[in-house]
Amino acid sequence: MKVIEKVEAIKQQELTATENLEQMYQVIEEKNDDINAFVELDFERAQKVAKSIDQKIKNGEKTGKLAGLVIGIKSNINVEDFIISAASPTLKEYQGSYNATVIDRIIKEDGVIVGLTNMDEFAAGSSTETSMYGPTDNPSAPGHIPGGSSGGSAAAIAANMCDIALGSDTGGSIRNPASHCGVMGFKPTYGMVSRQGLLDLAMSLDQIGPFANDTTGIALMLDVIAGYDPCDTTTINKELTPFIDDTETTSLEGTTVGVVKEFMDVTDEKIDCVINKSIDQLSDLGAEIKELSFPDIDLGLPTYYLINYVEFFSATRKYDGRKYGERIEEVCGPEVGRRIQIGSYISQKEFSGKYYNKALQARSLIRNDFNDLLKDVDVIAGPTVPKLPHKIGEEIDTMDMYAYDVLTVIANITGIPASSMKAGAVDDIPVGLQLQAKPEEDHKILSTMSAIEKI
Ligand code: GLN
Repeated sequence: MKVIEKVEAIKQQELTATENLEQMYQVIEEKNDDINAFVELDFERAQKVAKSIDQKIKNGEKTGKLAGLVIGIKSNINVEDFIISAASPTLKEYQGSYNATVIDRIIKEDGVIVGLTNMDEFAAGSSTETSMYGPTDNPSAPGHIPGGSSGGSAAAIAANMCDIALGSDTGGSIRNPASHCGVMGFKPTYGMVSRQGLLDLAMSLDQIGPFANDTTGIALMLDVIAGYDPCDTTTINKELTPFIDDTETTSLEGTTVGVVKEFMDVTDEKIDCVINKSIDQLSDLGAEIKELSFPDIDLGLPTYYLINYVEFFSATRKYDGRKYGERIEEVCGPEVGRRIQIGSYISQKEFSGKYYNKALQARSLIRNDFNDLLKDVDVIAGPTVPKLPHKIGEEIDTMDMYAYDVLTVIANITGIPASSMKAGAVDDIPVGLQLQAKPEEDHKILSTMSAIEKI
């Protein structure tokens, strides 16, 4: 059943919100010990919310867009009374004292938040192995990493533990795990969704976005969380049209799809094979395919990581132990420690011109060149991740870990919307198709996903 059909069934009293929660919770009880997708659960609290929604429906009162859907939230988004640890011992005792804007909106639209999901420590990673809660298994490729940093949210969707989950994406953390777990993930245009209440990794790159098993789940959540927020001055202040309408698209007649040569060149050949089949499907759906070239691809990772280190270093200065309990440097894992050290070094005045300024210049260059590419096409289609996920616990070099992000960081550097959906599999491991579009053209991505989904 599609996510939208479930909402309809709940509103029509063919299924109660309580039954939906119980069914999902049963899956969580059966599988979570092995998968470790959820790290905080509050069934009783969720049950109260589900019951009140059922009561409203019985009374004939109007209910919200997410009526009775079970929702998982990444552990770096503030939800009142849950432990918001960002999977770091630094914050292991930090109890959310308020709701992030996205959480208030979910509650207002009658979503049933069941718990918080696993992630890399402070979202700094691509494997969900750096979490203080231990790694998450990939339900679609057991024994392999689910990707990261929002690995718990992607795994929760892949294992049918919840209807929709939220993640955050700074350099690929929604799209990368969506790709490895074979689900849909959507990173909106920077400023489309409020970041108020999200713990920063790198604030000029971070965006919150949804995971689901079909486009209606993605659309319903975008319709709830997207839009101007006076508490986040970087949000775009414009009227939005409903995302749910995009999920009816069945043809791509009149759409131009770009395929970037360099994106295919850096990707494993077997993955390229799967992606080429998706591109054939796009053409069968009526899209015109156009080959593009983006030689700046080599600048992506160094630019992204330099900005990430500097912004993350600054974001972590508040974790000095007085308010949150632990001094971050004393308890964090090696990847977070590395980012703080390098970020601190780069931030020192005498080095600022040398590294950070250069990164900002490179950022403008990448943004201009990529926007130029997008001028001639509606969407760019290609692989989400250039290689298959490694086995949990396998020793991975830092640079190899960073290399997972080569195709996803561009959307964060430029602020454009981007998504991932399952294209196929290689050796039984899911492979994701990434779609990217011009800033604020999130609708085109969702329409394209919808057309592919209908095949
Ligand atoms: N893997 C990237 C990093 O480590 C992206 C993380 C993210 O998007 N949160 O920074």
